[in-house]
Amino acid sequence: MIKPMTKMLATATFDLSNEAEMLGFGNDLARLIKNPMIMTMQGDLGAGKTTLSRGILQGLGHKGNVKSPTYTLVEPYQLTLGAVYHFDLYRMVDPEELEYMGFADYLLDAALCLIEWPERGEGFIPVADISISIGDANIGRCVTLQGHSNVGRQLVEKIVGPGV
Ligand code: ADP
Ligand code: MG
Repeated sequence: MIKPMTKMLATATFDLSNEAEMLGFGNDLARLIKNPMIMTMQGDLGAGKTTLSRGILQGLGHKGNVKSPTYTLVEPYQLTLGAVYHFDLYRMVDPEELEYMGFADYLLDAALCLIEWPERGEGFIPVADISISIGDANIGRCVTLQGHSNVGRQLVEKIVGPGV
């Protein structure tokens, strides 16, 4: 069978000029999540990965603080959607650590996995439904979403909305 030159990719980029807009964007994303999914977040230290995660968690109904899981690797939440696990793999030295921590069981249980620094777990993390990369913008940050699975692509299309 002849393969297409390019696969259809859902991509969208947003300029978010301050922390409040980043949190609001997380809220908007959260409200569109209906299926279990994995979201990875890439970007330098201080890019805004944890801020975006906080917006998503709050959008899913979490009321308290959102601790950065830098030292614990994972922070669990039990929300209306189900179990949400927020990972930060920055301090991981060897991706095999994911095996020791029972990463596969987290995946099975999760309604949503948010993974900061997925590159530290390369080879042990399945392809994300949505990969998010955060970079600098003229003012604030530039956030790019890429959908890799059907549910991921659908979510990206929904957040973009009709008529774009
Ligand atoms: P990371 O988890 O990527 O290391 P954090 O979310 O902990 O980054 O920190 C990001 C910093 O950038 C915070 O000080 C936050 O207030 C700020 N910030 C978050 N989003 C934006 C934005 N869109 N524009 C400007 N500053 C932002
Ligand atoms: Mg962080």
